[in-house]
Amino acid sequence: MRVRPKKSFGQHFLKSGKVVRAIIEAAEIVQGETVVEVGPGTGVLTRALVETGARVIAIEADRDLIPSLEADFGDTIKLVCADALHFDYSLLPTAYSLTSNLPYNVGTEILKRFLTAKHPPSRCVVMVQKEVGERMLAAPGKMSLLSVAVQLYTDPKRVINVSSGSFSPPPKVDSVVVRLNWNPKTQHPEAVIALAKAGFRARRKQLHRNLADVGVKTSEETKAWLLSRGLPETARAQELSLKDWIDLCYNTSGYGRISPPDV
Ligand code: SAH
Repeated sequence: MRVRPKKSFGQHFLKSGKVVRAIIEAAEIVQGETVVEVGPGTGVLTRALVETGARVIAIEADRDLIPSLEADFGDTIKLVCADALHFDYSLLPTAYSLTSNLPYNVGTEILKRFLTAKHPPSRCVVMVQKEVGERMLAAPGKMSLLSVAVQLYTDPKRVINVSSGSFSPPPKVDSVVVRLNWNPKTQHPEAVIALAKAGFRARRKQLHRNLADVGVKTSEETKAWLLSRGLPETARAQELSLKDWIDLCYNTSGYGRISPPDV
């Protein structure tokens, strides 16, 4: 199928069979399971998904791609012409997985919709910009708000690094495929994320300062808590582990009406 890729839709079509195979292998699809794909594009990954015996629901925002997808796949997939940012996620089945080469400009936003949906995917195998993937996978010392958010809901693993030459047209940056296994660490992810947002407010500032600036905790309280966790008083938000964030949330009034830390 010949299409002119559109920048506005972040269209970079996969042309590497090796990468498609790596995605399919990592997705560990069981015959008959439902797989959601956001942005089927020209259908390269969609074709491979159908071949696994999955029931594919493909959500594509670009109307111009719909006729050829319909012609290529007919009734073998459920094709939805919709913007995944404004899609009604309650329409998704209760059990499914997500496998997608996500549109980069809105990839994290789309992922957020899935992770916070009433019925989240049991696992996601998604291609994202390398730098975004690295943040999802980060360990204490390099954590960011995205690391905290993704790791609160899932256990992320790297599947494969993908060079920009694997796409047509090639994007400016390299990519990475990550697999996120659903594994929520707390009953109250929103509270922990709200607290982490305050902690990461100004990246250069120490944690106690950021929290004091928004009136969440006094500097003295934060410093005492940091020492109790074996962290320096001068720690910055990126140094905290997921367990630290959950503990801090539990220990902070206003954010504290949550059940005890359960990791
Ligand atoms: N999966 C294909 C295409 C990836 S490019 C491949 O690997 O070759 C990203 C795709 O997402 C494009 O088809 C683009 O039109 C689509 N897209 C972009 N924004 C979208 C959105 N908000 N909702 C759904 N699809 C979107």
